[in-house]
Amino acid sequence: MNGLLARTTNFWKRPRVRIVFWAALTGLAMGVSGLGLPLEDGMRNMRWWSRMHSSDKQVVVVQQDDRTLDELGAIDVTHGNDADMLRRLFAAGARDVYFARSFAKRGSVSDDLKLVDVLRAHPGRVYLGATPGDDVGKGNYAGALPLKEFRKYAGPVSILVRHRPLNLNVQLTYSSDSAVGRIPSLSAKLAGVTNNSDDLFFPDFSISAASVPTLSYIDVMRDNFDQSKVRGKDVLIAPAATSLNDVHRIPGQNITAPGAFFHLIGAETLKRGIPRDYGWFAPFLLVMIVIATGLGRGRMLDVYRFTGLVAVLGAAPFVLDYFGIQVEVIPALAVALVAVIRMRNLDRVEVAGETNAGSGLPSVQALRSSGDLSSRILVSLKIRNYGAIIGSFAEHVEAQLAKEIVRRIRISDESVLIYHEGGMFVWLSSIRSSFDLFENLEGLHRIVQNGIQVGGIDIDLSFNCGIDSEFDRPLSSRVASAMQAAEEAVRNDELVYQHDARKHEAQWEISLLTSLDRAIDNGEVWVAYQPKLELKSNRICGAEALVRWTHPERGPISPDKFIRIAEEFHRIERITRFVINDAVRVAVDLERHGYELTMSVNISAQLLRNPGLPGMISEILATHGLSPNRLILEITETDRLDRSSRTFQMLQRLVQSGLRLSIDDFGTGNATIDYLRYLPASEVKIDKTFVSSMEGRKDDLLLVQSIIEMAHSLDRVVVAEGVETAQVLEMLTGMKCDLVQGYYISRPVPFRDFLDFVSGRRARLIG
Ligand code: C2E
Ligand code: MG
Ligand code: MG
Repeated sequence: MNGLLARTTNFWKRPRVRIVFWAALTGLAMGVSGLGLPLEDGMRNMRWWSRMHSSDKQVVVVQQDDRTLDELGAIDVTHGNDADMLRRLFAAGARDVYFARSFAKRGSVSDDLKLVDVLRAHPGRVYLGATPGDDVGKGNYAGALPLKEFRKYAGPVSILVRHRPLNLNVQLTYSSDSAVGRIPSLSAKLAGVTNNSDDLFFPDFSISAASVPTLSYIDVMRDNFDQSKVRGKDVLIAPAATSLNDVHRIPGQNITAPGAFFHLIGAETLKRGIPRDYGWFAPFLLVMIVIATGLGRGRMLDVYRFTGLVAVLGAAPFVLDYFGIQVEVIPALAVALVAVIRMRNLDRVEVAGETNAGSGLPSVQALRSSGDLSSRILVSLKIRNYGAIIGSFAEHVEAQLAKEIVRRIRISDESVLIYHEGGMFVWLSSIRSSFDLFENLEGLHRIVQNGIQVGGIDIDLSFNCGIDSEFDRPLSSRVASAMQAAEEAVRNDELVYQHDARKHEAQWEISLLTSLDRAIDNGEVWVAYQPKLELKSNRICGAEALVRWTHPERGPISPDKFIRIAEEFHRIERITRFVINDAVRVAVDLERHGYELTMSVNISAQLLRNPGLPGMISEILATHGLSPNRLILEITETDRLDRSSRTFQMLQRLVQSGLRLSIDDFGTGNATIDYLRYLPASEVKIDKTFVSSMEGRKDDLLLVQSIIEMAHSLDRVVVAEGVETAQVLEMLTGMKCDLVQGYYISRPVPFRDFLDFVSGRRARLIG
C-alpha cells in the first residue's frame, strides 16, 4: 500500500504529469464555460469563407427592400399587399411561399380578409413566421404565432435564430415549442426535414448568400418580374429594408443579408444531409487520450508530439466540414497549447538545469537525471574550500577556476566530460583500473597542491575524491554514491574514498590504502624485528626491521600485500620513514643495553628513484645519533640496473654516505656475477625459497652453495634467510655461510620480545 502511495506521489511529482493535469483543467474550463466559442466561430467562419460556393438556387427570396417601402410610401407592407403578392406568385407558378416574418398582429379588417381569401385558395402552400414573443423569455419558444384565422390555411414555422457569442455565428433549431405545440423551423420545413427535437445545427455558410436569386417585393406586387424565375421554386419573403431591423452579417461572408437568409442557407444545408455536431468534448477527450498514452511511455510526451497534435486539431475541422461534421476544437487546442508551451518552458528549464550557471559546465543534475548505465568509474571531486574561494573573489573567478580545474583533470583523464555543482566536479573516468585512477588522483592532488593561478590570484585548493564503480547501477544513483564517498573522504581526511568498499577486493585495497596514514598515526602499523645470527660466533649480530599492520577489523595484514599497494600508489615513503625511524631508535636503544647490532631495513626500488632518500635517512640517523655504517639497506628488483641509471647513482651516493647495502632475495632475478661485482653492496641475502627447500632439492642446494662461493669471491657477506630447520642451519654452516635468519632462530617479533631474546631472557633455540 505504501509502495503504491509512494508511486502515486512520485507520478504526481513528475513535472510533465502536472503540466498535463493543468492543461486538461484549462481545456475543461474552456469547454464548460464556452469561453472559446468566439474563437471557435472565428475559425469556423474562416473555413466557410475558404470553401465558399454558390447556392443551389432552388429558393427565391422576395425582398421587402427599401425601394418597396419608398414606392409604397409606407413604413411596412400590409396584409393586403401580401395577398396581392401571393396571388401573383402562385399565378407565376411558384411552389410554396414562406414568410420570414410575424403574422401575430392584425392589419386592417379588409386586408386581413383579403389575405385569408388567398390563403384559403392555396391551403398548405403558405407558411407564416412565428417569432419569439415579447412577453416570453429567451429559449426555443415561439411566443408570437400567426393569427388563428391565418393558421387555418397556412402553417406556422419558427423563424427563431440562435445567435452565438459576439454575434459571430448563428445556429438554427429543427423545431420549436409554441402555444400550439411543436412547430417546425422555417429551415427544416423548407428542406422538408421533420425533426421534433430542440437540437441546434449550423447552417453551412460556405453557401454564398450573394448567389441566392432575389426579387424585389414591389416588382412582384406590380407584376413587374420575370415569372420564370419563380416557376417551380419555393419563395421566401424576407423583410430587407434597413428600417425593418432584420439585416445581419452572414458569418464567413463579407455581406449583410436579411435574417431569412439564415434559414434559407440552413434549409439548403439540411437538404444536403443532416449535419452532425460532436461538440468540444470528443476532440478534448481524444487529445487527453493521446497525452495519457504518451505519458505512459515516458519521454514520448515531447514537444514534437504536441506540435503535431496542434496541427491535426487545426486541420481536422476543414476535412470534417466536407462531411457535414462540426467539432469544437478550442478546448482541445487549449489543452495541447498549454501543454506545448509549458513543456517548452520545462525543456528550457531542463536545458538550463543541465548547465551550471556559474561555471558553464554541464550540471551534475544532468547526470543525476540520467538512467543510463556506464562501465566507467565515476569520480566525484570535492573542493573543500570552494565556497570560501567563490565567496571571496569576483564573480568571473568561478568560471575561470572551474576551467583550470577541468584542465588539470584532463591532463591525465583526457577529454572526459566534467559535470559541476557547487564544490563538486563529477566525471566518468576514462581510466579503467581503480589503481591507475587512484594514482592519477594522487598526481592531480600534487599538481593542485602547488596552488592554482586564476586571473593573477593564487588560489590554494584542497580536495577529496569519492569514486563509484558499481557499473550495474544507473548513473543517477551512482552520482549520489560517489558524492557521498567524497564527503566520507573529507570526514576521514583521506584523498580517495571508494563507495561500498567491501564489494571487491580491489576496492578494499584502496580503502586500505586510504586508511594507511591514519593506521601509522594511531599505532596499527608497527615494526617487528627478526634477528640475524652470525654462524662463526653463534651470536646475534643484527636484526631486520619488518613492517607490520594489525588492522582493528581485518587483523594482521601481510606486508607483501600492502607494501605492493603502497608502492603502486606512492605511499611507500611514509612507511619507510616510519620503519627506519623505529629501527634506528631501536638500534640506539639496543646499544644502550650493550648490544651493538646492525639494523637492516627494506627499501623498495621505487624509493631509490626518489632523490630525497639520502637526506631523509641521514636526518633520521642524526636525530637519534646512530652511525650510518650500522644501518643496512636491503634492496630488491635491482637486477636490471645499469651503471648509468639514476638508481645506480643513488646507490653510490648512499654507500658514500657510509650506509651499507644488501641485495635482498638474491637468486630470484637474473642477477649475474658481473652485476654482483659492480653493485656497491656489502651483503647478499639468498632468497628464502632456495634456503628452505635446499634440504630436499639438490639443485637448490647447489645454487645456494654457488651463491655463497661467488659472493665470497667478491668479498661479500652472505646471509641465508628462511632458515626453518636445524638441518638447513647445519648445511649452511658447512657451506661457510656467514649469517642466517629464519623462523628456526626467531620469528620477527615486537621489539620488547626481541630485546628479551637478545639478552637471553627468552629461550634461545640454539647456542
Ligand atoms: P624480505 O625483506 O625478504 O623479508 C623476509 C621475509 O621472510 C619476511 O616476511 C619474514 O617474516 C619472512 N621470513 C623470515 N624468516 C622466515 C622463515 O624461516 N621462513 C619463511 N617462510 N619466511 C621467513 P614479511 O615480514 O612478511 O615481509 C615480506 C616482505 O615485505 C619482505 O621480504 C620485504 O620485501 C617487504 N617488507 C617488509 N617490511 C618492509 C618495509 O619496511 N619496507 C619495505 N620496502 N618492504 C618491506
Ligand atoms: Mg628484507
Ligand atoms: Mg628476502
